[in-house]
Amino acid sequence: MTKKHQKNDLIVNVRPEILEIQETIIETRRDIHKYPELGFEVHRTAGIVSDRLNSFGIDVQTGIGKTGVVGTLQGGKDGSTIALRADMDALPIQETSDIPYKSVHDGIMHACGHDGHTAMLLGAAEIISKFQDTLNGTVKFIFQPAEEGEGGARFMIEDGCLDGVDEIYGIHVWSYQKYGTIGVKEGPILAAADAFTITIEGKGGHGAAPQGTVDAIVVASHLVTALQTIVSRNTNPLESTALTVGKISGGHNFNIIADTVELKGTARAYSEENRQMIKKRLNEIIEGVGSTYGAKIEMDYWDGYPPTVNHKVPVEKLVRSAGKIVGEGVGFPYLSMGGEDFSYYTQKIPGCFFFVGSSHPDQKPMSVPHHCSHFNIDERALLVGSSIYVQLIEDLLIK
Ligand SMILES: [Zn+2]
Ligand SMILES: [Zn+2]
Repeated sequence: MTKKHQKNDLIVNVRPEILEIQETIIETRRDIHKYPELGFEVHRTAGIVSDRLNSFGIDVQTGIGKTGVVGTLQGGKDGSTIALRADMDALPIQETSDIPYKSVHDGIMHACGHDGHTAMLLGAAEIISKFQDTLNGTVKFIFQPAEEGEGGARFMIEDGCLDGVDEIYGIHVWSYQKYGTIGVKEGPILAAADAFTITIEGKGGHGAAPQGTVDAIVVASHLVTALQTIVSRNTNPLESTALTVGKISGGHNFNIIADTVELKGTARAYSEENRQMIKKRLNEIIEGVGSTYGAKIEMDYWDGYPPTVNHKVPVEKLVRSAGKIVGEGVGFPYLSMGGEDFSYYTQKIPGCFFFVGSSHPDQKPMSVPHHCSHFNIDERALLVGSSIYVQLIEDLLIK
């Protein structure tokens, strides 16, 4: 018996055990939302996670990847080891929504939904722990810090969180998709997310006497325009890349020729090949523009997360299990040029990262984007996510 919600023709079958604990899941999410923590400093959140996992009788290791938590539930019989992963960290953003569980920490909020990821995995862990004796294998519950920029996943892997794990699955709530839909596909699903800072050194002077100067603003203008050709002219149009110069700073006043300008930007690609091509073209264009205008241009390039690439077999398994929860809502082939450190896990072992639609059916999907100060989710998405985790473990480890 499952309860059915019907909204916009999508039928969602939340697992009955999850419906029984839905208040706990939502309260947990709101509690974590109210007390958000950044990066590796997720001490309170990790404390809640380890206390709860302990209370379910799951073996708990803390301090993995600095402040991460790994719960291990060994079943009654031998079999595969399946890992389920949530991230716990928030963002340095001031929350502007007036909700009862609004962040009490100034300048910090859960604007990406990681509070929901933690709550839904705890909900699933509570139910899965009750199946322990019937499990043919082991479930690892991975709660990591520092997804937003510092690559907490790498530290978790270094501390052995993937040891003995056969497959890994992870969820992102997704406000660009409606509640009741699941975005998943084989191959790349999120991009490599690199960043760069370019410094242009020209030669300043009087705005009325440009001769003999090297105007760093003119050089920067040519450079920004030339960089746009990497995506438009150097990339195969059937493959996606993105290059954005998001910040430009320099100059002194209206009548002074600028001596230095700094540009900051990001480069995104779905393949390592395109990622390397972008980096190479950046260097070539910088060199060319610099010599053309007589400016000294230097670049600091920061390698961010690699592309998140899903493996065929775990995707097929996920689609089958998620289909039992959201029916035709599964398989929405969503791609994003965003980056995710889940990519480090699927570089090591087979895995599948998928998006759980969290936009309210009455809302335009783009109206509450991630990383914005009024970000929020349709909390029913948490029940969908927990249900899919439970269904997946039942399908994979209970024959
Ligand atoms: Zn984020
Ligand atoms: Zn995120």
